[in-house]
Amino acid sequence: MLQYRLSIKDKKWTKVKCVLCDREAVAGDYCTLHSKACENLTNSYGKWKKALDICWKEYLSEIVMNPLTGQWAKDVAQHLIKTGEQPDVKVS
Ligand SMILES: [Zn+2]
Repeated sequence: MLQYRLSIKDKKWTKVKCVLCDREAVAGDYCTLHSKACENLTNSYGKWKKALDICWKEYLSEIVMNPLTGQWAKDVAQHLIKTGEQPDVKVS
């Protein structure tokens, strides 16, 4: 599902771009790959929180520092640190 945004300047609908790359946004502000990465980040935070009682910001820094983290997840984590945005996290 592609999203379109009305551009005030051109008065026409334009495809929404991912905030992190040049791909088209499909879910919120992200493209397929970044939205998947964001979902994975959010899901694994639930597990980390349970084991380490770590806060969202600390968790994001760990993700960015971790050499094993994929580039997509790093992009999203860095973006979330900047915006201070925290998605709903289910801690089960
Ligand atoms: Zn993207």
